Amino acid sequence: MNINKGNLLYKGKAKDVYQTEHPKRVMVKFRDDITAGDGEKKEIMGMKGYYNSLISAKLFKTLEDAGIKTQYIDLPEPGHMLAHKLDMIPLEVITRNIAAGSLLRRFPFQEGQTFDPPIIQMDFKNDEYHDPMLNKDIILALGLANNEDLRIIRETTLKINQVLKSFLESRGILFPDFKIEYGRDYEGNIVLGDEISPDTCRFWDRETKDVLDKDLFRKGESGVIEAYKKVANIILDEKDKKRWNLDF
Ligand code: UDP
Repeated sequence: MNINKGNLLYKGKAKDVYQTEHPKRVMVKFRDDITAGDGEKKEIMGMKGYYNSLISAKLFKTLEDAGIKTQYIDLPEPGHMLAHKLDMIPLEVITRNIAAGSLLRRFPFQEGQTFDPPIIQMDFKNDEYHDPMLNKDIILALGLANNEDLRIIRETTLKINQVLKSFLESRGILFPDFKIEYGRDYEGNIVLGDEISPDTCRFWDRETKDVLDKDLFRKGESGVIEAYKKVANIILDEKDKKRWNLDF
């Protein structure tokens, strides 16, 4: 399919965002670049953008079906996502169901400890300052969001966690933690944006406890793309697979 892309609006570490002919819509291109450690570790992994776009689209659709507003409109072809244009809020909203990663390096939690209710953490999305953890007063003082925005973000995030956790668990995947980002649409509504993929989530096989996410790359292990492909294979329905002629 011929994907019509206009001006490049934004180039991130793993995605490019293009204007479309429609002023309120953008085309997001999922690239094969994979980075870790503040962008210090960098590689290109063929097919990563392809699988991440399929996984993100499926999870966004699952959320839409549960009544959560997302940026997602369509996946015209794997690798390209048509989306509502948002003014992104520079917050990395992290939800934690099981202690892992930086939380264990910074606080005396036990590895594998579960959190119910989950922990919601907000980091400042800012490379220059190395994405520091925020608190409510700092968010308000920086003018990143107001009290009402934060209430909506927190409530929506908890609902997103519930929906995704039960969907993934029904497919045999544990969901220790994930990062999401929100933006504002033309009417000023807070809408879920960015992506939800093995780049931004931890996914563990419930039976084998195999890691199926970017932690493999962070730790220099092999089988990164195979793991991303496995996630796509597990969560996509037969209908999605037929649409894209996927031969898993
Ligand atoms: N995460 C992300 N982008 C970041 C930092 C974290 O997508 O810049 C995700 C990460 O993939 C994980 C969750 O947020 O699913 C929590 O990450 P953590 O704070 O444990 O950091 P890490 O150990 O990954 O550096």
